[in-house]
Amino acid sequence: MSILSQEQKAIQQAAKEFVAKVIIPNAAKFDKSGEFPMLLLEASKPSNIFAMAVPKEFGGLNYDALTQALVLEEWGYGCAGMGTTLAASVLSMDSVLIAGTDEQKRRYFKPMLNAEIGSFGLTEPGAGSDAAAGTATAVKKGDEYILNGTKCWITNGGFATVYVIFANTDPAAGVKGISAFIVERGLPGFTIGTTDHKLGIRASNTVELLLKDVHVPATNLLGKEGEGMKIAMKTLDMARPAIAALSVGIAQRALDTCVAHVHARFPGKPFPGQTLQFKLADMQILVEAARETLHQAMQLRDAGVPYSKESAICKTFCSDVAMQVSATAVSLMGSYGYTSELGKYMRDSKIMQIYEGTNQIQRLVISRAVLAHAPAASAAQKAGK
Ligand SMILES: Cc1cc2nc3c(=O)[nH]c(=O)nc-3n(C[C@H](O)[C@H](O)[C@H](O)COP(=O)(O)OP(=O)(O)OC[C@H]3O[C@@H](n4cnc5c(N)ncnc54)[C@H](O)[C@@H]3O)c2cc1C
Repeated sequence: MSILSQEQKAIQQAAKEFVAKVIIPNAAKFDKSGEFPMLLLEASKPSNIFAMAVPKEFGGLNYDALTQALVLEEWGYGCAGMGTTLAASVLSMDSVLIAGTDEQKRRYFKPMLNAEIGSFGLTEPGAGSDAAAGTATAVKKGDEYILNGTKCWITNGGFATVYVIFANTDPAAGVKGISAFIVERGLPGFTIGTTDHKLGIRASNTVELLLKDVHVPATNLLGKEGEGMKIAMKTLDMARPAIAALSVGIAQRALDTCVAHVHARFPGKPFPGQTLQFKLADMQILVEAARETLHQAMQLRDAGVPYSKESAICKTFCSDVAMQVSATAVSLMGSYGYTSELGKYMRDSKIMQIYEGTNQIQRLVISRAVLAHAPAASAAQKAGK
């Protein structure tokens, strides 16, 4: 088990209390309606939690990576849809943390101090896993860039105040022409398209963003022209563990729900049959291993050690665990499971394996890292024996 500081334990406890008071009582309602829970933002104001990743000098809470993961696990436990709202806002802030100037940070982070949210627009209809295939453009004219293009499946897009948007400033250069911009809500030509109907995380908002001749000040360019893909990849490295944290929360909730059911259905007795007991044990093993994998990656990040491989591993493992544990919990509870809130945990788990880079893509990343550190060939292998 990770050893948490007193401060981390206090923050974790505060998150549990917020989730019990605000998130859990509202989760089923917003899952059913698919509406965005504005009340979540209002209720978050006193704690300033939407500024948890904002550095102290910009007025934020400045939580380290492990502490952010503790909060997100609790939000995932309560409702992975509402947790996604917080995670996606932090995702967009990560780009600004990576590449923003102090002035850009001050402007971008200001709304978060008022429980407003940010959004990260990379994906396009023809560019998901292959983000480099994006066709959105940004043409420089004087001291502005003019952005055109369509972004799709963008979390928080309909309710964000600020956005990080990727567009190509030099299409002939391909991926090396992609640049990142801060775009503010309300600019002429920047509109919200279709809102997506979703299988899970239905309390989160997922939309199309339409950019038609949107004039963005040149001072909103993040980093230099052509650095967009590098910024996007670094951002996703930083942000993927947030998905792992939500996943651990879902898995823990599914397990707790299943255990509560066992107690109610077989009072005073263990689950009938060793096979079922062993399944419960396996679920517990998976949840604990997932949490440890996540915390290890966060401790590396907090120590300033490279953690790209560990980021991919924890996102993949924890989301696979959420899917497996929630599905097993449904099976163990039989028809009670199939007709209970466990269905939401299964539905919410699926997207964890897809967004912020699918688990197939993560496996490519992990295998490349493994192959790059392959042990030197033995003399016999070199001799072809
Ligand atoms: C609810 C939701 C929220 C989202 N939020 C955001 C957001 O806030 N910002 C944003 O920019 N995007 C967001 N996305 C987009 C999401 O990150 C992409 O959908 C995801 O990266 C996968 O892209 P794709 O859907 O185009 O799948 P595709 O790239 O079409 O992939 C389809 C399948 O092929 C596999 N595949 C593709 N290429 C390879 C390969 N080279 N090797 C092996 N397998 C491969 C994939 O793993 C997948 O199984 C969101 C999506 C959803 C559904």
